[in-house]
Amino acid sequence: MTTSFPTGTILGYPRIGRARELKRAVEAHWAGALGQADLEATTAGLRSATRERLAGLGLGRDDSSIPESFSYYDQVLDAAVAVGALPERFAHLRDADGSIGLAAYFTAARGAGELAPLELTKWFDTNYHYLVPEIGPETVFALSTDRFARQVAEARADGYVTRPVVVGPVTLLALSKASDAAPAGFSPLDRLDDLLPAYVELLASLRTAGAEWVQLDEPALVSESLPVDAAELAAAATRAYGVLGAAADRPAILVAAPYAQLTPAAWRALAAAPVEALSLDLTRGAVPAAAPGLAGKTLVGGVVDGRNIWRGDLEAAWAKLGELAALAGGVSVGTSTSLQHVPHDVALDPELDTRLVSWLAFADQKVAQVATLARGLAEGRAAIDADMAAASLALADRLGAPGVRDGAVRGRAAQLGAADFTRDDHEIRLAAQEAALDLPVLPTTTIGSFPQTGDIRRFRAQHDRGELSTAEYEELLRLEIAAVVGLQEELGLDVLVHGEPERNDMVQYFAENLGGFAVTRNGWVQSYGSRATRPSILWGDVSRPAPITVTWSQFAQSLSDRPVKGMLTGPVTILAWSFVRDDQPLGETANQVALALRDEIADLEAAGIGIVQVDEPALRELLPLKQGDQPAYLEWSVDSFRLATAGAQPETQVHTHLCYSEFAVVIDAIAALDADVTSIEAARSRGEVISDIATSGFTHGIGPGVYDIHSPRVPSVAEIADLLRRAVDELPLRQVWVNPDCGLKTRAYPETVASLQNLVEATRLVRQGV
Ligand code: GLN
Ligand code: ZN
Repeated sequence: MTTSFPTGTILGYPRIGRARELKRAVEAHWAGALGQADLEATTAGLRSATRERLAGLGLGRDDSSIPESFSYYDQVLDAAVAVGALPERFAHLRDADGSIGLAAYFTAARGAGELAPLELTKWFDTNYHYLVPEIGPETVFALSTDRFARQVAEARADGYVTRPVVVGPVTLLALSKASDAAPAGFSPLDRLDDLLPAYVELLASLRTAGAEWVQLDEPALVSESLPVDAAELAAAATRAYGVLGAAADRPAILVAAPYAQLTPAAWRALAAAPVEALSLDLTRGAVPAAAPGLAGKTLVGGVVDGRNIWRGDLEAAWAKLGELAALAGGVSVGTSTSLQHVPHDVALDPELDTRLVSWLAFADQKVAQVATLARGLAEGRAAIDADMAAASLALADRLGAPGVRDGAVRGRAAQLGAADFTRDDHEIRLAAQEAALDLPVLPTTTIGSFPQTGDIRRFRAQHDRGELSTAEYEELLRLEIAAVVGLQEELGLDVLVHGEPERNDMVQYFAENLGGFAVTRNGWVQSYGSRATRPSILWGDVSRPAPITVTWSQFAQSLSDRPVKGMLTGPVTILAWSFVRDDQPLGETANQVALALRDEIADLEAAGIGIVQVDEPALRELLPLKQGDQPAYLEWSVDSFRLATAGAQPETQVHTHLCYSEFAVVIDAIAALDADVTSIEAARSRGEVISDIATSGFTHGIGPGVYDIHSPRVPSVAEIADLLRRAVDELPLRQVWVNPDCGLKTRAYPETVASLQNLVEATRLVRQGV
C-alpha cells in the first residue's frame, strides 16, 4: 500500500469504442447472433486497445495511471452486481453458486417479458443514464462476480498495472431506491454497515488480481439534490472509509469526487479518512481550504474538464495545481470527471473545420493534456512551456475568431427589455385561442414524432451519402408526412403533428440549421447501455440564416382542416444536449438560441400555423447540483423559454413538453414558462403527478401522459380512461389535454396505432361521462 499515486491520470475513458464496437457487440449478443464467449473476447480486445492507446497518449503502463473503467452497460449496475445487490425478481438467473453472470446482468438492465428492468435515471447533471439499484432489508450483500478482478488480471497478463474504477459504497446506496419489499421510511443508506464487508471482499479480490490502486467514485458527496442530505452523506463517508481504509488486504484507495465541489462536510470527512488519495473536480469548484488529515495524502487536481470538448485554459489549470500543492503532501493532475461524457477522438472527425479542430479536445486530446501537465509536475514547468504556449494561442484564437462574436446577434440581445419576455395575460390568450381553434373538451394530441421506420432512416442515410438527391429525399418526406397526417385524421385526433420524419435528432436537426453550431459525424457519447448520441458543438454566436421547420409544417397543415402543431426544440434542451461554449454565461447563449426560435415562431405564424410546441425535456436535467446555484439557473432557463415564445400572438397556442415527472423542485418554474399547454410524463407513476399539479395551483393547460411510450405494450381503453378520469376529477375540465407520455419515434406502427385508437376511444368515453 505504499506505492505512490501516478503524477497524471484520467478518472475514466469512453467505453463504447472508436467505431462503437461495444454497441455492435452487445446488440449482436442480445439478438442471439454473438455468443457470450465471443462477446467476452470482443470486449477484451476493446479493453486491450484502450490500454494501448492510453499508454501511447502518455499514461504509464505500470503505475496505475490507466483506469480500468470498462462497462458492458452501466457502472452503477456493475457495482450493484459486484456486491450482490440484484433484486429478488432476478434471483433465478444467478449461477448455481449464486454468482451473477452476464445473462442476469443484461436482464436486470433491459428486462425480459414480465420481468421489469431496473429504472433508468439521469446521472447527476449529465445526459448519461444509470440503472437504479433496488435495495431493501432483504438484500443480501456478498461479492457476486469476479468481473472487476478478472479485468485487472487481464491487464496484468497484457503487461499493464491498471487501476480498477468502482462506484463507491456511499454513492451506490445514495443512488439506490428502496425495494418494493422495504417498509415505509426505509432508506438504502441504512444498509451501509451491511454493505461494507462486500466492498472489503471486493478490494481484497482486486489486490489479489494485482491492483495496486483502486478508484472509488463518490459523486454523491458533491450533490445537494439527493434525497439524503449532505451531513448524513458525509457521516456515511466517514464510516465507509473508516472500514475500507482499515481493511488488511487492499489496494491503495483513491476516492474520486467528480461533477462539483465536495460539500464542506464531505471534504472534511474524506480529508480525515484513512485513504491514500482524493480526486477533486476543480473545473466546477475552487480549491478547498485546508482540512485536518491531508498530510501524507495525494490530492489529484481534476483540472482537465471531462464535461466539455474545449482545449481549455491550461495556464489556469496549472495555477490550480499550484494552489492544491499547498494543501497536501503530493499533487497529481487528472480529469474533473470520467471522460465517458466526451467522444473518443477529434481525429475521427476529419470533416470538421480545421480552425475549430484546433480549439477542441475530445477524450484522447484530454489525455494528452493530462500527460503534458503531469510532465510539468514531474520535470518542472520549463519542460512544458512550449505546449502551454500552444494551448494559450489556441484559446486566444478561439476567443477572437470570426463568428464567435457576431455584432448583429449581440446588438439585438443588448436591446431586450421586460416586454420581450412577456405575453398577454393567460385569460386573454385563452379566449383568443378558444375562438381561433375551436377544440373539443379533452383535446387529443401527440408529442410530435411518429415512428421513425427503417425506410425513413434508410432514405436519410442515402441522402447523406448522396445516393438520393435533395429533391427525391424531400419528396419521400412529404409522402411520409401525408401518411402521418392521414393516419391521425383517421384515428380522430384533434391536434395533429407532421411526425418529424426530417429530423435525425431533435437537437442536431436545429444545430445543423443554425449558425454558430458544428455537428460531428463520429462524435458519439454514451447515453445509456448501447445507446449513444452525437452532441452538437455550439462554438459561436447563434443565428438563423433561414427558416428551418416552416415548409414542413406548412405542408402538413395544407393537408388537413385540423390544426397542425409547429414543432421546435427549446433553448435549454438545445444547450443541454450540445457541447456549449464556455466563454460566456449559459444564460446569454440560451437567449441567442431563443431569439432564433422566436423568429422561427413568427415565420410559422405567418405561414398559418396556429399552435407551436417548444419542447424542453431537459429543463430538469441541467438543474445544478448545488442548491445555491438553482435559483439563478431557473431564472435564466425560464427566461430563455419566455424569450423564445413571447413574440407569439395571443391566439397562437404555445405548447411545451417535459419528459419527466419529478416535478416538486421545478413546478414553479414550469408555471413560470407560461406555456398555454404543457404535456408531461405521468403514466409510469400512474398519474401521481396529477395531484402535485392540482395542489400547486397550476392554471394552464396540462396533458399528463396517459400511456408510456417507452415500451411496446398497448394500454387498454379502461386503463387510459382511468388515468383520464383521475385527471378530470382533480383538475378543472378545461385544463386537461390527452396525449401519450413522449414522442413515438422509437415505437413501431402496430402498437402506435393500437395505442392511439385506445387513447381516442378512452377520451370519447370520458367526454360522455361514462
Ligand atoms: N417532439 C419530440 C418528439 O416527439 C419530443 C421528444 C422528447 O421530449 N424527448 O420526439
Ligand atoms: Zn418526452
